[in-house]
Amino acid sequence: MNRLQTWFATTIYQDRLRRDGQALNRELLKECRQLRDFDDAGRRWSAKNYPGGYTSYGTLDRLQEFSSTFGDLERAIDRHVAAFAQALDWDLGGRSLRMTDCWVNIMPRGTAHSLHLHPNSVVSGTYYVATPRGCAGLKFEDPRLSRFMAAPPRRAGATQSNQVHVTYPAEAGRVTLFESWLRHEVVVNPVRSERISISFNYDW
Ligand code: FE
Repeated sequence: MNRLQTWFATTIYQDRLRRDGQALNRELLKECRQLRDFDDAGRRWSAKNYPGGYTSYGTLDRLQEFSSTFGDLERAIDRHVAAFAQALDWDLGGRSLRMTDCWVNIMPRGTAHSLHLHPNSVVSGTYYVATPRGCAGLKFEDPRLSRFMAAPPRRAGATQSNQVHVTYPAEAGRVTLFESWLRHEVVVNPVRSERISISFNYDW
C-alpha cells in the first residue's frame, strides 16, 4: 500500500452530450431564444434576480415536459447521469434518477451567477448551447473549504486533488454533471456574445 492515499474525493463529470448532437443543439439554441422572447414574466423575474441576463428558472423550470426538443435533451442527459451514478457507486435500491427541473440561462457580457448549490436534488448539471470564445466557465469550490480553518494555502500548481477551486470551460455540445451539494459559480461573462446554457436537477 502506498504511504499516501487520497480519500473522500469529489467527482465531476464532463462529456460530449451525443456524437451526433449538432442538429439537436441548433434546435435548442432556437428554442432558448424563443423562450426569452415569449417569457415576459421570466424577463421580469430575471431583471430582479439575474441582472443583465435571462433565465427561465423563476417561470419555466420544467422545460423537459413542455418541449419535445428539451425531452430529447433529457433522454440524452439521462444516460450521462446513469454513468455518473455508476461511477459514484450509488445504490439506488431499485429506484432511478429522474430529471425534476430544467431551465435556460442566457448571459450577455457582464452577467454572473454567484456561488450557490442546488437544494432538494442529488445530481445537477449544465448543457452548453452557445459558448462564444473566452466566455466564463463553471467554477467549483472544494466543499471542505469552510473546515480548513488555519490550513495554509496551496502552492500554485498543486496536485489536482489538493486544489481548492477548479474551473471547467464551457463548451457547446458538452454536458457537465456534479453532485448538487457542490458549490459553484459562473463569474462575470467577459465577452459580448451571449453564453447560453441549460441547467437541470435530478432526484431519485
Ligand atoms: Fe448552478
